[in-house]
Amino acid sequence: MANVLIIGAGGVGSVVAHKCALNSDVFTSITLASRTKSKCDRIAAEIREMHDVTIQTAQVDADVVADMVALIRSVNPVLVINVALPYQDLPIMDACLEAGVHYMDTANYEPKDVAKFEYSWQWAYKERFEQAGLMALLGCGFDPGATQVFTAYANKHYFDRMDYLDIVDCNAGNHGKAFATNFNPEINIREITQPGRYWENGEWIEIPAMSIHKPIEYPGIGARESYVLYHEELESLVKNFPTLKRARFWMTFGQAYLTHLEVLQNVGMTRIDPIKFQGMDVIPLEFLKAVLPAPDSLGENYTGQTSIGCQIKGVKDGEERTCFIWNNCDHAETYREVRGQAVSYTTGVPAMIGAMLMLTGVWMKPGVWNCEELDPDPFIEQMNKQGLPVNERINVPLPHEYPA
Ligand code: NDP
Repeated sequence: MANVLIIGAGGVGSVVAHKCALNSDVFTSITLASRTKSKCDRIAAEIREMHDVTIQTAQVDADVVADMVALIRSVNPVLVINVALPYQDLPIMDACLEAGVHYMDTANYEPKDVAKFEYSWQWAYKERFEQAGLMALLGCGFDPGATQVFTAYANKHYFDRMDYLDIVDCNAGNHGKAFATNFNPEINIREITQPGRYWENGEWIEIPAMSIHKPIEYPGIGARESYVLYHEELESLVKNFPTLKRARFWMTFGQAYLTHLEVLQNVGMTRIDPIKFQGMDVIPLEFLKAVLPAPDSLGENYTGQTSIGCQIKGVKDGEERTCFIWNNCDHAETYREVRGQAVSYTTGVPAMIGAMLMLTGVWMKPGVWNCEELDPDPFIEQMNKQGLPVNERINVPLPHEYPA
């Protein structure tokens, strides 16, 4: 039915390619392209062996718009799924506009030289996509992505007004490495070393990184120390659900991880400005990424689960109500299915679902959209079918107290 072009052959790109291949009634032709073609070829061989599906591969530097346009013209896809890095969002959006194809990604644009991520750059493309009759779907992974769908679902079915939102993200897995990040190390470390930020009473409250934390109870896992971080979906959620008085994002970190991170920061290894080393310009964080384990190498022998969900408090029919919607995902199970760990899986499966809903017309509309702006029901239905079962509790008090 549809020809897709996937850009990026890391942990997430691999899962997207596997899951598209497993849904070959919708994705009838798949091309996986990335900076290093050998990684695409390795994934293609795995897909052929595991699922008996043949996909095409290609090399591209997605920072170069002309090269992206040439690749799109030769592959002729309906949609480009961008699961490279956030730096590539704008060049790939430009290429999609020039070549006249739809676009989607899983992380918002970030300039390379400033650790600053916000939607303004991509929202600025809205009119151009609308006028071209093309759609761009932003941030369709798990968080961002499924967390916005959960919030939209709660808003549609359970609330007349939502007041408080806490997104709670736990990885209780063990990959057996002393220190590794579960998705691209450079992007991950830039995100968590920034000051934290949350929304309260109409404004952003900025806090020192990792300064607000408490144990939160995760279903099937137990209590885990969780830290308030700024996370990009908060920006679009407070815009699209303006009744929210408070919106926060919590993520778990183990003590060993935080200690490693503190040391790396103290010795300057997380810096993103170039330093001179033996006559060369070296960016310490890029060098650090090169020596850390790659996210797509963590899957084998990874045990334990992730648990990500939305805790919401608000009002329905004049009465106060609480709602918790979440998914738990098991590292070993996802490895068996697609050779990827659960963090790549929980990002790649929603990306495939978003693509599927666009291609089947269910979510197709010209313009630039965040996930909560589209009908959540078909997305939840697909999550239940595609390996990410959705659980919910309404008005059941949680061990983690809802905000006052
Ligand atoms: P990886 O580092 O494992 O993979 C990134 C891939 O992009 C690599 O194959 C890399 O190629 C390729 N790439 C980088 N630059 C270019 C370029 N200029 N042209 C072509 N290809 C390029 O990252 P992940 O798979 O872990 O993450 C992918 C994306 O998913 C990131 O944007 C990340 O922020 C996002 N993400 C979103 C989540 C969500 O829930 N929404 C959660 C986790 C991740 P090479 O191998 O040659 O370096």
